[in-house]
Formats: sequence, C-alpha cells, structure tokens
Amino acid sequence: MAMWVCPHCWGENLNYGSIELESESAFFPRVCEDCWAEWNEWYELSYYDQEVVSYPDDLSNNQKENDSEGTNK
Ligand SMILES: [Zn+2]
Repeated sequence: MAMWVCPHCWGENLNYGSIELESESAFFPRVCEDCWAEWNEWYELSYYDQEVVSYPDDLSNNQKENDSEGTNK
C-alpha cells in the first residue's frame, strides 16, 4: 500500500497521530479526514549510532581521580 494516502479512499487529507514506540518498531496512528478510516503506519527501527549528549559531572570526576591514581603508582 502506498504511503501518504488513505488505504480505503486514496484521499490525501490524513491526520497524523503521535508516534507509538514498540521494541523494534514504531507506528503512527493515521486517520483519513475524507472517509474517517483509521490505520497504523508501521516503521522498522534499526540501530544507527550513539551520540553522547552529556555525562554526569560526578561520574567523569571519579574517572579522572582513578586515572591519576593509576599513573602515580
Ligand atoms: Zn479515506
């Protein structure tokens, strides 16, 4: 079935719900504003990358202290 059109009337006046996450997939609930059909649009989630936003301060400080102790010995 084509994306972005209603599977019932092929209308393009779709209402987009908020995404619902499952373990390895996700779906958007959709409603057609022409015929009011409802369906879920499924997406497969695949791992892509890690991007560090921040580390907790106390954790990184402990790490540095442990590192310097190690080098002094
Ligand atoms: Zn429709």
